[in-house]
Amino acid sequence: MKRIHIISNRLPFNVEKKEEKFILTPSVGGLATGMKSIYKNYKGYWIGWPGIAKDKLIDNDQEKINKAFLKEKCVPVHLSEDEIQNYYEGFSNKTIWPLFHYFNEFVEYEQEIWEAYVEVNRKFADSALKVLEKGDSIWVHDYQLLLVPRMIKEKRPDVTIGFFLHIPFPSFEVFRILPWRNEIIKGMLGADLLGFHTYDYERHFFSTVRRLLGLEINFNRIHAEDRIIMADAFPMGIDYDKFMDASTETRHRLMQEKSELQLELERYFLISPHRKLILSIDRLDYTKGIPNRLKAFSIFLDKYPEYQGNVSLIMLAVPSRGNVEQYKKLKEQVDGLVGYINGKFGKVNYTPIWYFYRSLPFENLIELYNASDVALITPVRDGMNLVAKEYVASRVNKTGVIILSEMAGVSKEMGEAIIINPNNFNEIAESIHTALKMPVDEQRERMAIMQKRLKRYNVFKWASEFVKSLEKVQDIQLQFNTKKVSPSIQKLIIEEYTNTKKRAIFLDYDGTLSSFKPNPQDAFPDEEVLNIVKKLTEDQKNEVTIISGRDRDTLEKWFEGYDINLIVEHGVWTREKGGDWKMLQQINADWKEDIRPSLENFVDLTPGAFIEEKNYSLVWHYRKAEPEQGVLRANELKDELTSLIANHNLEIMEGNKVIEVKSGGINKGAAALRFMGESDFDFILAIGDDWTDEYMFRELPQKAITIKVGMVNTSAKYKVESVTAVREFLKQLTL
Ligand code: UDP
Repeated sequence: MKRIHIISNRLPFNVEKKEEKFILTPSVGGLATGMKSIYKNYKGYWIGWPGIAKDKLIDNDQEKINKAFLKEKCVPVHLSEDEIQNYYEGFSNKTIWPLFHYFNEFVEYEQEIWEAYVEVNRKFADSALKVLEKGDSIWVHDYQLLLVPRMIKEKRPDVTIGFFLHIPFPSFEVFRILPWRNEIIKGMLGADLLGFHTYDYERHFFSTVRRLLGLEINFNRIHAEDRIIMADAFPMGIDYDKFMDASTETRHRLMQEKSELQLELERYFLISPHRKLILSIDRLDYTKGIPNRLKAFSIFLDKYPEYQGNVSLIMLAVPSRGNVEQYKKLKEQVDGLVGYINGKFGKVNYTPIWYFYRSLPFENLIELYNASDVALITPVRDGMNLVAKEYVASRVNKTGVIILSEMAGVSKEMGEAIIINPNNFNEIAESIHTALKMPVDEQRERMAIMQKRLKRYNVFKWASEFVKSLEKVQDIQLQFNTKKVSPSIQKLIIEEYTNTKKRAIFLDYDGTLSSFKPNPQDAFPDEEVLNIVKKLTEDQKNEVTIISGRDRDTLEKWFEGYDINLIVEHGVWTREKGGDWKMLQQINADWKEDIRPSLENFVDLTPGAFIEEKNYSLVWHYRKAEPEQGVLRANELKDELTSLIANHNLEIMEGNKVIEVKSGGINKGAAALRFMGESDFDFILAIGDDWTDEYMFRELPQKAITIKVGMVNTSAKYKVESVTAVREFLKQLTL
C-alpha cells in the first residue's frame, strides 16, 4: 500500500504562541496515539484544524503555523470563529452528537449550522485533495467529517477512503429524524471501508443504508452502483503498555518522586486502611449518566449504612462544551446532587463524594486508577468509553472491579465486568455492593481475562486491523473491476461490432435498459431507451431482442411499432418481428391455483408486497415492503414453496426483490439459443442484470459478448456498473 493520510477535526498537536514563535506539543488522546503510528509509517499527512481560530492570527501567523505543522507532516485547515461556532459547536455538537446518542430532545435543526457543516467539510476535503496522489489512501475520522468521504471520492475515485465513527451510529428510527439524513448517509458512503466500534452500530448503519437508499447488502458488503463498500466493527483499543508501565512505575516511586495527589491518597489509606474508593472519570456530558451514578450511590449508602464513612466516590468531571445550555444545566444538576449527598451522609472525617471539576494530567489519572477499588462507569450512551479500558490496564496486581453500563460500546468486550442498565438505580446500587464484597480471587480472575484481551487488541492493533481491511477492500474492488468494461474493452467491442454483418443482440429490460421502480408498471421505456432501441434496429445487420421476465402484453404495448423481437416470461413466449406470439414449449398453468394461496398469505403478512400474475408464472414482489422484513419473508416463502412445488414441474426463481414460481425447464438461455436456431450470427451480445440472465450468459456460444449489470459475481465475460452505463455503452455502439 502506498501512503495513508489521516483527516480528523483536530490535528494531533496543541499549538501555542510564545515570543512570536508557534510551539507544538503533542496531544495524548487515544486517536492521536493510534494514528501517529499509521501516518508516520505510511508516510502520509495529517489534515485537521490546528486549534486556533484564524481571526486570532495576525500578520503572517498563519504561514508560521503552517510551517511549524509541516515539519510534523501536518496540514492545518484554518477556520474562523464563526465556522467553529457553527460547524463544530453547532451542527457537530448540537445536532449530530445528541441525535447519535439518542438525546432527540436536545437536537437542533438549524439550516444555518447545517450549511456551515457542509462548507467546512468541503474545506477539509479540499485540503486533503491538495496532498492526495494516485494510489494513496486516506482515513477520515468521526462525526465532524461525515460528508468528507464523498467529497473526496467524487473528485478522486482512485483514492481508497476509510472512515471511522468514534460515536454510536443510532438505530434507523432515530437517524431518520434528521432532515439531512440522505446527504449524510451518502457522504459516508463515499468511503470504501466504514468502521464502527461495535456490531450494533454497524447493523444500524446497514439498516439505514438499506432503507434510505435501497442498496443491496451481502454480509458486510454494500453493493453501491459503481463500487463494493465494506463496513465492519473495529473496537478501538488503548495503548495498554503505556498505562500498565506508568502504573507499575507509580507503585515503585520513591517518596520524593510522588505527586501531591499520590501522597494524599496514601495518607488517606494509612489512616483508614479499611476504606474503599470508587472512581468515576468522564467529561461532564449528558451522555455519561453522571446524575444516574450519583443517585445510585445515594441509594447504596441508604441501603447499606454500614458503608457510610467507609466508601467514597472520587468523581472527576472534566469540563466540556460549557457554553452549551444543556451542559450548563447538567453542571448545576451534578453540583446539586453532590451537595445533597455530601450534606446528607458527610461527617467531620467523611466526605462521601470527592468531586473534581477539572482535567488532570496523565500522571494523576494513573494514580487514581491505581488507588481505586471499583470503577463506576454508567453512561446512558457511549460509543466506546476508554476510561473503562484504562482502568483495567492500570491494575498492576489485577485487583479491582468494573461496574459498566450496557449502553457503552466497551461493554461488548468486557463480559467480565459487572454489567448494569444505567437507568436502573437499584441495580447499580446493588452492583456497588457486589463489587465491594467481591473476593480478591474472583477480582483477579476477571481482571486477568480483560487485561489479556486489551493487551492483545490495543490501539495499534486496532489501527493496523483497519488498515488491513482497507487493503482487503482494495483487493475486492480490484477483483470486481477486472471484468469491468473499460474504455479499451469498449473500443474492442465496438471494432468487432463494426466489422460484423449478422448480429444477435439480447437485451434484458428491468435493471438493464430501465431502472427498477416501486411499481413495475411505472418502469416504462423513456425516450432515451426508445431512441437506443430505434437506433439499434435501424441497422439491418442487427437482430435486436428484448429478453425479459415480463409478460407479453406489457412489452408488446411498450415496444409497439419497433422492429424488434420479444422473448417474454423468461422464454415461454417468443414473437419475432412482424410475426405472431409463439410458445416455445408446451407448458400449462394448472398449478397456479395450488400455489396462489401461499403467495396471498405472504402478501397479507408483508405490508407492501403484492402478486403479479403472468401467463405461466406467479411473482411475489417485495420491493415496496420494509426491506428487512421483505428479505425475511422472502426466505420463509422460498422455504414454503420448496415443499409445495414437489409434485409439480415448477421452478422457484429469486430475482431482484421478487420470488417467481414458473414452469420448469424454461429459461432465458434455452430461449435465446432456440431463437438463434441455425442462423449464423457472427456477433452475439447479451446484457442482463439478474440471475435469470446468468442462464443466457452460460448457454450462449463461447464467442458471445456477455455483460452483467452490477458489480457482483457473474458468469458473464464483462460487467458494467449501472443502467446508465448500459445506455452509454449502447449509444457508443451505434454512433
Ligand atoms: N482524560 C484526560 N484527562 C482527564 C480525564 C480524562 O485526558 O482529566 C482522558 C481519559 O484518560 C480518556 C479520555 O479522556 O482517555 C476519555 O475518553 P472516553 O472514551 O472515556 O470518553 P470521551 O470523552 O471520548 O467521550
